[in-house]
Amino acid sequence: QEKLHIIGGGMAGSEAAWQAAQMGVPVVLHEMRPEVGTFAHRTGMFAEMVCSNSFRSDDDERNAVGLLHWEMGAAQGLIMETARLHRLPAGGALAVDRDPFAEAVTARLRAHPLISIAYGEVRDLPQDGHWIIATGPLTSGALAESIRAETGAESLAFFDAIAPIVYAESVDMSVAWMQSRYDKGETLEEQTAYMNCPMDKAQYEAFIDALLAADKTEFHEGETAGYFDGCLPIEVMAERGRETLRFGPMKPVGLTNPHTPGVKPYAVVQLRRDNQLGTLYNIVGFQTKMKYGAQTAVFKMIPGLHEASFARLGGIHRNTFLNSPRLLDAQMRLKSRPNIRFAGQVTGVEGYVESAAMGLLAGRMAAAQILGRELPPPPPDTAMGALITHITGGADAKTFQPMNVNFGLFPPIDAKGGRRGRKDRYKAYTDRAKESFTQWLAS
Ligand code: FAD
Repeated sequence: QEKLHIIGGGMAGSEAAWQAAQMGVPVVLHEMRPEVGTFAHRTGMFAEMVCSNSFRSDDDERNAVGLLHWEMGAAQGLIMETARLHRLPAGGALAVDRDPFAEAVTARLRAHPLISIAYGEVRDLPQDGHWIIATGPLTSGALAESIRAETGAESLAFFDAIAPIVYAESVDMSVAWMQSRYDKGETLEEQTAYMNCPMDKAQYEAFIDALLAADKTEFHEGETAGYFDGCLPIEVMAERGRETLRFGPMKPVGLTNPHTPGVKPYAVVQLRRDNQLGTLYNIVGFQTKMKYGAQTAVFKMIPGLHEASFARLGGIHRNTFLNSPRLLDAQMRLKSRPNIRFAGQVTGVEGYVESAAMGLLAGRMAAAQILGRELPPPPPDTAMGALITHITGGADAKTFQPMNVNFGLFPPIDAKGGRRGRKDRYKAYTDRAKESFTQWLAS
């Protein structure tokens, strides 16, 4: 029987190893800790939670991450099952007692007759055999270099500079309008690819004041190297001068506001389409280190975004991740080296739960392939399917940034029909997903 090698015993690698072994495929799990550490991990255990101890909302009826919990439970995921065994009281969230959780995952993997553990750093991209690389946001430098040599420097990032992402339906289009700067583009779709939110002078000044006063997070030690070459946080731009943004991402040129003909906006915030479905838009140039509470307060000051709801907020972090839409096929295989799959945060999903979910799929897909079958990805109207579809093709490769699971990634419900309340609509998404996922599992 051919073996499956997995590099990285984090959220994704642990789950992938478990799934493949449960399907009868022998697994070698390679982990560099405790020999080689990272700035965030403290132990040598598998599935260590490096920061918060929460798997976020456990509401599987009205929350996309709660739905992902449900799907992982239905697929007998090790991470979800163990998290539930070590649950701490936390209202609607799935909070986890992190050390007993990691100890239990480690013990289950070690005890599995088909899993062997190989401690030590893997420094080179493997040549032969079946591999899954699940080395996470803090992939070791040597391996990252080796991956970069294969993918090209522009396709492996070391930072994410995430601009906030807004649900398109929550933007007030009686204030905002669709137009690309100077109407650029061949087709009407391209000429109207952006949403524009206009500001007058007073609104701009108030916005700059709020940016300067907002609460910001500090960088982790060892996290900042090289970050200023990339993109500046918007509040740092504002600190450099009150006009910097108006001459940068908020410049009002090449745009005409159809709601107020003849009045030139003083500044314009642009939102760019973020997915093929057109349900999500990111605020262009608005990567930020503001705390989450401050971000919502400040961004809702933007005309047109007063009632905005956010699919994800902005951030800047140390994060090694691939340009997956460009590099990976629908089975998460490197197109240029199909014996290698990627899984977890390195594929451009974000968070413990999303990473473990992508590990679950990669483990099953790799095991199926070794057993001479092919496992199709789950349908895009499930949480796992929406995520894998996004990273392997739905997202725009040119602006690809890591993504949490959210309903904006799902094929819309009620696109044309009557407007149901948002809560009912989320329930409709999760009902549809559960049915679809159950069918996928059964087949
Ligand atoms: P990891 O869990 O990081 O696992 C990767 C594993 O690969 C590690 O065990 C590492 O030691 C090993 N490895 C790396 N390189 C090699 C190599 N060359 N050879 C062998 N082994 C190797 N997510 C949240 O949901 N909530 C949070 O609060 C949160 N906070 C975070 C804080 C920080 C500082 C960071 C960096 C990330 C945070 N994340 C958070 C994201 C979180 O780390 C990931 O979502 C999740 O752990 C990723 O799972 P993974 O399996 O992809 O990577």
